[in-house]
Amino acid sequence: MLKSFKTEINPTVEQKIKINKTIGTCRYVYNFYLGHNKALYDKGEKFMTGKSFSVWLNNEYVPDNPDKIWIKEAYSKAVKKSIEDGCTAFTRFFKHQSAFPNFKRKGKSDVKMYFVKNNPKDCRCERHRLNIPTLGWVRMKEKGYIPTTKDGWKIKSGTVSIKADRYYVSVLVEIPDAKIANNSNDGIGIDLGLKDLAIVSNGKTYKNINKSARVKKLEKKLRREQRGLSRKYENSKKGESTQKNIQKQKLKVQRLHHKIDNIRTDYINKSIAEIVKTKPSYITIEDLNVSGMMKNRHLSKAVASQKFYEFRTKLKAKCDENGIELRVVDRWYPSSKVCHCCGAIKKDLKLSDRIYRCDCGYVEDRDFNAALNLRDALTYEVA
Ligand SMILES: [Zn+2]
Repeated sequence: MLKSFKTEINPTVEQKIKINKTIGTCRYVYNFYLGHNKALYDKGEKFMTGKSFSVWLNNEYVPDNPDKIWIKEAYSKAVKKSIEDGCTAFTRFFKHQSAFPNFKRKGKSDVKMYFVKNNPKDCRCERHRLNIPTLGWVRMKEKGYIPTTKDGWKIKSGTVSIKADRYYVSVLVEIPDAKIANNSNDGIGIDLGLKDLAIVSNGKTYKNINKSARVKKLEKKLRREQRGLSRKYENSKKGESTQKNIQKQKLKVQRLHHKIDNIRTDYINKSIAEIVKTKPSYITIEDLNVSGMMKNRHLSKAVASQKFYEFRTKLKAKCDENGIELRVVDRWYPSSKVCHCCGAIKKDLKLSDRIYRCDCGYVEDRDFNAALNLRDALTYEVA
């Protein structure tokens, strides 16, 4: 089974130069291939395949044009791939599946740096870094998102791309068959919420990271710097603050946003990894009405900061990797209101009732009761 992962990377200045140069060369060669074939086409001559163009470029064109030697200095596999992409675009055109291929414009078109595993040292992946051919170890912003090599995963190939001055890597990973299935343990239910991030039916609770002292302190600092920024805007109108000051303050605010965001993402990754490690045969969650919750202005900030959507997407990915069935229960299923002991429904359960008390004598934490009900739900969709 092959799976793709995309994440932001943090290349060094040198690596950035190399990436930009490679992508620039790929764009140039792609356009060159298109132009060459366009000229042949206009003259009524035979179309040149990507393969024969590659051979001609390397064995004739570059040797005959020493000023174009820089084409050969770029990572050859990436250059070759851009020619192949051009060839594919032509094939689609010939099959009437798309229009005549477009030239790629700098900054406007999505040209990527392709790379491929060619020897055992290539494409190794550790928790925080990835070995990319010709670039070496590149740091990843999100630790542990791409499965590491030591678990038997194999990165086959990938691309590096740039968007708004940010760098991303996308990799294609081969998952060993042994990793799939073989989860003999029972299933679990997870109740997601605002008070705590997740209550798991196995008894584990993942607290709301936004209530931690660390995040609270950073958020306070963020608010202070944001106030500082609007003050600087005001002062600049009076001529007391310069653009340079404003830019500096803006950067401070951005960095704080980023830092808080990273803490939240790391926490989600860690929680999911821990849940999946227990090897349940299935996981049941509720289909949260996130967009509906976002419309409530009292809740929207708290909902956004919990990153439920990211949680669900990543949980799904991890379940796929580990052969765990992800079950999603309809949002109207009253998981909180049903007594897990006798099945009675408590219609008047209020959001403030943290403890579930049933007439049958059953007393349980409200969210834990919901997690148990989710675990045992019989009506669900497999995500
Ligand atoms: Zn009951």
